[in-house]
Amino acid sequence: RGEVSAGQIPSLVKSFPLCMANLYDHLHTDNHLRHGGRMQFGLFLKGIGLPMDEALKFFRAEFAPKMASDKFEREHAYSVRYNYGKEGKRQDWTPYSCIKIISQTPGVGDYHGCPYKTMDAPSLDAALRRLRIDPKKITEAVGKAKGGHFQLACASAWAGAHACSCDTGINHPNQYYDESRKVLD
Ligand code: SF4
Repeated sequence: RGEVSAGQIPSLVKSFPLCMANLYDHLHTDNHLRHGGRMQFGLFLKGIGLPMDEALKFFRAEFAPKMASDKFEREHAYSVRYNYGKEGKRQDWTPYSCIKIISQTPGVGDYHGCPYKTMDAPSLDAALRRLRIDPKKITEAVGKAKGGHFQLACASAWAGAHACSCDTGINHPNQYYDESRKVLD
């Protein structure tokens, strides 16, 4: 897979699953994301091919309206480098799977986790509408989420965003993205 630059990210959001589109949205609007969100989203971006230097550039720019770059260096650059195995345990961390994301319990003010589990039906409906997903598939996704079938709900949303079905099912946000790029690239 090729590399992705910081500047390409906004044009790739249409291939992000709701859990990541939602984190991007909050980061871009609030110029802030709490730790759990930065980990979940940062590792996903690493998985789509964003190199560490581009990740630093991306997060620095998104935080910039509310945070001077020296403060970013002190408070957040470490965790970006950590995700890439350049700090702390120096482990090459892998992006989270759906099972891992679904098992998280985000607190108030957190936006990580799986929205099919964490959002109530009206919020989920509104969030999927913002992604311009086929309304019939939104209804299907909201119904499946209500029944506790979060990954099936995500597959319905994928189908509604790409006008075809995802035969492999959804088990990883990076797989959602890869399948999307095959159709939209
Ligand atoms: Fe993200 Fe997986 Fe939930 Fe879809 S099912 S929103 S890819 S965690």
